[in-house]
Amino acid sequence: MAAETARQLLRRVFGFDDFRGLQQPIIEHIVSGGDALVLMPTGGGKSLCYQVPALLRPGTAIVISPLIALMQDQVAALTQLGVRAAFLNSTLDAASANAIERQLVDGELDLLYVAPERLLSPRFLENLLPRTQIALFAIDEAHCVSQWGHDFRREYRELTVLHERWPQVPRIALTATADTPTRAEIVERLNLGEARQFVSSFDRPNIRYRVEEKHDPRKQLLNFLRGRPNQAGIVYALSRKKVDETAEFLRGEGIHALAYHAGLDSSVRAHHQTRFLREDGVVMVATIAFGMGIDKPDVRFVAHLDLPKSMEGYYQETGRGGRDGDPAEAWMVYGLGDVVLLRQMIDGSEAGDERKRLERSKLDALLAYCESVRCRRQTLLAYFAEDYPQPCGNCDNCLEPPQTWDATLAAQKALSCVYRTGQRFGVGHLTDVLAGNATVRVVELGHDKLSTFGVGADLSERQWKGVFRQLVAGGYLDVELGSYGSLRLSEAARPLLRGEVEIALRQERERKRAPKTRFSVAAHPADDGLFEQLRELRAKLAREQNVPAYVIFHDATLRAIASERPHSLAQLGEVQGVGARKLERYGEAFLALVRAAD
Ligand code: ADP
Ligand code: ZN
Repeated sequence: MAAETARQLLRRVFGFDDFRGLQQPIIEHIVSGGDALVLMPTGGGKSLCYQVPALLRPGTAIVISPLIALMQDQVAALTQLGVRAAFLNSTLDAASANAIERQLVDGELDLLYVAPERLLSPRFLENLLPRTQIALFAIDEAHCVSQWGHDFRREYRELTVLHERWPQVPRIALTATADTPTRAEIVERLNLGEARQFVSSFDRPNIRYRVEEKHDPRKQLLNFLRGRPNQAGIVYALSRKKVDETAEFLRGEGIHALAYHAGLDSSVRAHHQTRFLREDGVVMVATIAFGMGIDKPDVRFVAHLDLPKSMEGYYQETGRGGRDGDPAEAWMVYGLGDVVLLRQMIDGSEAGDERKRLERSKLDALLAYCESVRCRRQTLLAYFAEDYPQPCGNCDNCLEPPQTWDATLAAQKALSCVYRTGQRFGVGHLTDVLAGNATVRVVELGHDKLSTFGVGADLSERQWKGVFRQLVAGGYLDVELGSYGSLRLSEAARPLLRGEVEIALRQERERKRAPKTRFSVAAHPADDGLFEQLRELRAKLAREQNVPAYVIFHDATLRAIASERPHSLAQLGEVQGVGARKLERYGEAFLALVRAAD
């Protein structure tokens, strides 16, 4: 019999019909013994790029991964597929570790996941590996080699030893970090100069981007969540206090919400993380400490109550949604307060001037994204130097195109109001002066005598706040450090004040209008009942084995079962995500539910 092809193996073991994106050429390259550097966004399907070659090449694939939680999940998922996989890391006791080591040298493993420090230990390098038939080395999260990144791991620098000792064993390094400097550093540090580079588009087409003006964030969040019952998602907030308060508020509203931040006891953190992974429909309220190494595929939304610090942060955090390829949402509320806070945080930090300039420009790019009237996806990808020719049709700006208005005159009034009041006041007071509100403060300061007093009666206070926010975001106004948001004119304000340039601003959206589109978790509303039953069965099976539900079947697979309604094992085996082993183990139980539903 001819050897099994990659595609046949994909169908038999993983239950998928087609490779995605660059998976196939990458796999062929590795199987034939080449080295590769793979850049693919989160959810792009990096794991298959080494898992399939691991099964096609003789011997054991050694997968180096810095993330313990992720290793365990991957091994659980592979075991469900009938693949012989194990991990070695600090969570194992000596006896279990010994047993796995024996399996390794006896050739009983297809894949072994190992933490970098473990791999580099003399015992592993000198004693075990030389006695092992090695199929390939996979270096996951390869950006950890970069000392400029947040995830720098010293041990990654020493991984060049693999190539030196086993030059004939193919290596595949993988990362979701896109930027060119990091890529160059990976190539250099891991000695991958000869490796072929596979660079995927960083677009995440199934994520719908949406940015809303922040007015009553809790209520806005609650409305958002109410429209998405039983969906798993992450809500990001900047401070621990806000995380705790928001989670408590949501629980009070009957939402299954948990908190996660670095200030919580590590056992509480671990417990919450496990519940998020294993239970259906948990909303995790978290600081950005949460998410790294979480590869839960069915996160349906990522909500930001506060702005991330940069476009990189935004892309990475929103990217935790929708890894399974099903529709997911990135939703963010944003207001002047965020801009003031983040600008002050940067200016007031201990960092050197160069660093501050860099952080400031990163924040400015993010603010421009928030205020943009252009397709969000185009703006986002353009930031990462990727061209996206057509508007995407799957972001708020595409779905409900915002209006712009000629705000040149309004901007001049606003800027001159800042100037005439002495560049020491925040938006509240400035708006009072423009609107002609003779408040005690306005009168005491004599601002009712200024030429700008009352010149803004043509716009509402809300509109003025929007003008100020956009002027700050656009860099026409600076925020005074250590103040409650006092505004000063910047260099960029001059040509505007002098009437040399014009400015168009984004029309604030009507508040009451609900988003036009809303997607449901079920394929067809009529399938809701069956889909829920399938989910319950999955939850029960997962609990019995103490594994996350998605390692049994993904939502997408359950949805396909609910709509295709297979009546035989053969038909069920055709469904995406149903491989031979799972068919054998779970097929009858799921079929019974389908039959009962008809
Ligand atoms: P990454 O590591 O790049 O974030 P994963 O390897 O975890 O992505 O894959 C993301 C999801 O896509 C997983 O749920 C995986 O099962 C699914 N997937 C990957 N490749 C395919 C494919 N060829 N067909 C269908 N689903 C796939
Ligand atoms: Zn768009």
